[in-house]
Amino acid sequence: MNILMVASEATPFAKTGGLADVLGSLPVALQDRGERVAVVIPDYRGSYYPHATREAYRYLWIPVGSGYTVDLYQTTGRGVTYYFVRCPELYDRDGIYGPGAGFSDNHLRYAVLSMAALGVARHLFRPDILHAHDWQAALAPVYLREHFHHDPTFDGVKTLFTIHNLGYQGVFGREVLPQIGLDARLLNPEQLEFYGHVNFMKAGIAFADAVSTVSRGYAREIQTPEYGFGLDGFLRRYAPIAGILNGVDYDEWSPEHDPHIARNYSAADLAGKRECKRALLAEYGLRQDNLDRPLLGIISRFAAQKGFDLFADVAARLLQQDLSLVVLGSGDPGYESMFRRLAQAYPGKVGVQIGYNTALAHRIEAGIDMFLMPSRYEPCGLNQIYSLRYGTVPVVRATGGLDDTIDEETGFKFRDYSGSALLEALRWSLDAFRDLDSWVRRMRRGMEKDFSWSASAGEYVALYRRLLGR
Ligand code: ADP
Repeated sequence: MNILMVASEATPFAKTGGLADVLGSLPVALQDRGERVAVVIPDYRGSYYPHATREAYRYLWIPVGSGYTVDLYQTTGRGVTYYFVRCPELYDRDGIYGPGAGFSDNHLRYAVLSMAALGVARHLFRPDILHAHDWQAALAPVYLREHFHHDPTFDGVKTLFTIHNLGYQGVFGREVLPQIGLDARLLNPEQLEFYGHVNFMKAGIAFADAVSTVSRGYAREIQTPEYGFGLDGFLRRYAPIAGILNGVDYDEWSPEHDPHIARNYSAADLAGKRECKRALLAEYGLRQDNLDRPLLGIISRFAAQKGFDLFADVAARLLQQDLSLVVLGSGDPGYESMFRRLAQAYPGKVGVQIGYNTALAHRIEAGIDMFLMPSRYEPCGLNQIYSLRYGTVPVVRATGGLDDTIDEETGFKFRDYSGSALLEALRWSLDAFRDLDSWVRRMRRGMEKDFSWSASAGEYVALYRRLLGR
């Protein structure tokens, strides 16, 4: 099968979160199984480009807004072709999505992406499956049905829309409809309309031939009012929604051959992990006498989704305990300053880096004992899975993908969204840490888990085949 994916980010080119990891690794896994995959993403300022990037198509006309002319560039990595949509007017800016609620023309920026993906399909890579990811790519199946249904390129093409995070839907005023080249008749509750606004994600759900999300747990949760962000009822109409867990790229994330960490190690020989802990304490300027105490870690976007309000509730009580903490993240200024204040209040014990730093994320996974992820909701979550491979024990809230990937054997879970439930799970984990032998057994059980893409890529292939009636 030829599978054309559309998304707003992909590693190693542009990344703000787990979506990029998926677009960097799922295509490779599909390719390894004998499928052909191409990915379309925008050409942002600051994107990383390999030398071999070359022009693929000039002057592609995009009939969106007052019209745009874009150029397409392409590169091939690990067998997968990536097409970059170059349109400096829209993408050559600071940041990927823009500050706060995003750039005011994000509807245009991502409408152009979706339309350009159909241009790729017509001129460069003829797909059997068009696979759109999250709201930024959600108009691709809409344009296909609205504008290209007579185009033979798309005869028999089936579309899949994957929800990576229902918390971001791409909701805009109704006045954007003519700008994005869609007819006003689509503004009805069965299609694009959402409380009088235009909802890109709803459009993707309505127009795609199938809808999936990134864990079974999240597939269930988004059909409930608590997690549905206003779309739960609508989503129930498209049930069953496939839940296919994101895989991990173990070429990137394995302590055996991770180039970023102080010393490599494995389940068979854990000695290097202690060296990584020593180095991490030093890097964060924490006291070396913390070496035998539990070292907790957080790596995250600081967004409401991630549950740091619970952490804020319990931080003072938690930090009375004999432990230390390292934090890496950025986002909500309120959480940034909360963590900065903790670092000032507990020098030598709490270390905080505000920012985005992939190499440091690897060193944290390797150097800490426990990874903390108290998310309010979590579609899949990747860091807790990376933690398992690094012999780092996850302490997570039992929701979505966290609940699906962590069990009592490998980590600690709490269910209630409350500070006291979080604190209780942390107390269990701190107690368990005192029994070194059983702690090491727990580490090894996590390290043996296999969340590589092979199983999940097979589930996508089965879903694509089902759509194509093969
Ligand atoms: P989300 O996509 O909601 O942010 P995930 O757990 O699915 O959450 O994926 C997060 C990804 O982003 C992981 O690869 C993680 O290592 C990375 N990440 C998040 N924050 C940072 C940061 N401050 N520095 C480096 N990597 C980060």
